[in-house]
Amino acid sequence: MAYNDNNIFAKILRGEIPCNKIYEDEFVLSFHDINPQKKIHALVIPKGKYINLDDFILNASLDEMAGLLKGINIVAKKLGISTEVGKGYRALTNINEHGGQEVPHLHFHLFGGEIVGKMVE
Ligand code: AMP
Repeated sequence: MAYNDNNIFAKILRGEIPCNKIYEDEFVLSFHDINPQKKIHALVIPKGKYINLDDFILNASLDEMAGLLKGINIVAKKLGISTEVGKGYRALTNINEHGGQEVPHLHFHLFGGEIVGKMVE
């Protein structure tokens, strides 16, 4: 499956669609989810064109991998939910059809600000 440049997160990365930005650096962009499922619901996406976590693992550089993981912690810290400053959170990524992925650009959901609850419905 090829990366689709018309997906909504690609448009956000190109600045064609606005987002409620939390953080940005060389490797990641983070913004609030438009339809929050918990008190805090942020998204962290790599700047590179990766469809999902498998694509990222197979094709991203080590710098991109480190950048994404560090980005998750930086965002969690900024939101007051990382273990250094808060009570923790859930980081989750849906992968393809059975994973329930809707937007075909890799993204981690960060849920927090309250007890997140059951892992799988
Ligand atoms: P997933 O089902 O894992 O692909 O999640 C896609 C997420 O993107 C959902 O939680 C949506 O609410 C969120 N989303 C879709 N469009 C936007 C947008 N324009 N800005 C922020 N979040 C969005």
